[in-house]
Amino acid sequence: MSDCLFCKIRDGQIPAEIVHTDDHCLAFRDINPAAPVHVLLIPRKHIATLNDIGPDQAATMGALFEAAGKVAEKLGVAESGYRVVVNCNADAGQEVFHLHLHILGGRRMSWPPG
Ligand code: AMP
Ligand code: ZN
Repeated sequence: MSDCLFCKIRDGQIPAEIVHTDDHCLAFRDINPAAPVHVLLIPRKHIATLNDIGPDQAATMGALFEAAGKVAEKLGVAESGYRVVVNCNADAGQEVFHLHLHILGGRRMSWPPG
């Protein structure tokens, strides 16, 4: 996806503060953090939304969630707690159409989200 912001970050064409990388995924700090820890975790493969997940993506999704726990541990919020959010399409406020997990932590969060 040549015009995808997160593909460009993956390819090093746009700078980002990378906090984790492995064969399946990449995590970097959100440019406009909503919490003291706010990281975006993306699959290396371009997948637009959660609606595009099928059986072929099972390994990728498993790797993403395994990496989410590793990132939380690395950034010191695994024990204090953190939230993982996937926004899908307009009502959820998705702005970048390359699937990503928001990993938020470092402060108490309210529920339900606004
Ligand atoms: P979403 O609304 O779920 O699509 O989230 C997109 C996220 O990407 C927002 O939290 C933005 O702050 C973040 N974002 C946008 N541009 C960049 C960038 N260049 N580097 C890091 N995060 C970004
Ligand atoms: Zn992409």
